[in-house]
Amino acid sequence: MSRVAIVTGGTRGIGRAISEALKNDGFTVVANYAGNEEKARAFTDETGIPAYKWDVGEHEETLAGCARVEAEVGPIDVVVNNAGITRDGTLLKMSFDDWRDVMRINLGGCFNMAKATFPGMKDRGWGRVINIGSINGQAGQYGQVNYAAAKSGIHGFTKALAQEGARFGITVNAIAPGYIDTDMVAAVPANVLEKIVAKIPVGRLGKAQEIARGVAFLSSDDAAFVTGSTLSINGGQHMY
Ligand code: NDP
Repeated sequence: MSRVAIVTGGTRGIGRAISEALKNDGFTVVANYAGNEEKARAFTDETGIPAYKWDVGEHEETLAGCARVEAEVGPIDVVVNNAGITRDGTLLKMSFDDWRDVMRINLGGCFNMAKATFPGMKDRGWGRVINIGSINGQAGQYGQVNYAAAKSGIHGFTKALAQEGARFGITVNAIAPGYIDTDMVAAVPANVLEKIVAKIPVGRLGKAQEIARGVAFLSSDDAAFVTGSTLSINGGQHMY
């Protein structure tokens, strides 16, 4: 039987590309999403991959959602923590809700998904956890104290959990994407985006599929000796 992989926020953007790449590599894939029914329906119709709705920022909901997936599809072997939101603004303008929501979903979601799936991976002696961080968690970004803190937290979470998983055959890694052409980046004002692209050595935005290939490698048996690592996929932007 093929291994089961779950991709949070897996129905559109980078997550959709990851879901499709893992399916192509032979995994039985399940995608989670938050509430965009139209995108979720189109995704399932076009890919044949089932989509399960819950808020990964909610602990009990996540435990129940993963239990449902395991009952209906099978034990979860690979978790891709991709779900994420932005609530940008300078500190002076940022509300406490904007801070809390981004921490709850982007960072809390990783904890909740790990709590739901790590025990089973440990019992079976094999697992993969791949967390989608961000170049803005590595370098910081004006107007994103919430997002940068959450993504930076993901990089720390990855290294700590990797140490706990190593002796159980569970690897835990992160990918730090640069700017990728998705709805999230479409929300950035054009004049700001122009300045961002000017700082990317390869001179363009990344493609969701370019992140997905990295996830596919980290999910494979070939990556068994890679753990606690962060793979930067950003067109060379991390060097500046
Ligand atoms: P999108 O905004 O295009 O998609 C976000 C996905 O996350 C959607 O599927 C959405 O579900 C889901 N989601 C949001 N909140 C929740 C929640 N509470 N519970 C479950 N699912 C949720 O994002 P991208 O594809 O651009 O980004 C994917 C990841 O990559 C994010 O973690 C982002 O921070 C990170 N990233 C993106 C970069 C970029 O340039 N695009 C750069 C660096 C990192 P629904 O469709 O139902 O709303």
